[in-house]
Amino acid sequence: MGVRAYVGLGSNLGESEAILDSACTSLHAARGTRVLRRSANLRSAPVGGPAGQLDYHNGVVELETELQAEELLDLLQSIESDHGRRRSTEQRWGSRTLDLDLLLYGEVISESKRLVLPHPRLTGRMFVLVPLGELQPDLLLPHSGETVQTHLERLRESTSQVLR
Ligand code: ADP
Ligand code: MG
Repeated sequence: MGVRAYVGLGSNLGESEAILDSACTSLHAARGTRVLRRSANLRSAPVGGPAGQLDYHNGVVELETELQAEELLDLLQSIESDHGRRRSTEQRWGSRTLDLDLLLYGEVISESKRLVLPHPRLTGRMFVLVPLGELQPDLLLPHSGETVQTHLERLRESTSQVLR
């Protein structure tokens, strides 16, 4: 049995919905990884980054993977570049055709130069917690020991982030 992992999907450049579909197809087709479930897409106003960006399309997928966490990150980054993402020329939190974030990799808590688990901004982003909560509201987050639902309720009380 592989490891259960969750990946956040985002796009605000190009044919975003088609790009997210295609990214899921690529993930499912990759060796050692299959997509078990996918949330509904939602739209969110950009958080941070340069002004004037279009809304994002976001979602979350649940995977089962035989890959190590860093191998899975390699796979996510190669799927991003297959969909036209060019990290070298983009601004921090600027527009992108595809953003794939490794939110959770089993219950692993770790930090290396290129990979932090759980994803450091997971609990502060409505556009991540809402679709993750659709898939697994009772999932315990390893760094807090609290459920996705609990984090979501807390963030709802404090945030001005807009979902459409
Ligand atoms: P963001 O997703 O925060 O908008 P990027 O997609 O440009 O920003 O990612 C920036 C860097 O974050 C990547 O080069 C990657 O090495 C690093 N990173 C650290 N932890 C993670 C993670 N859990 N998932 C995805 N990228 C991560
Ligand atoms: Mg990213």
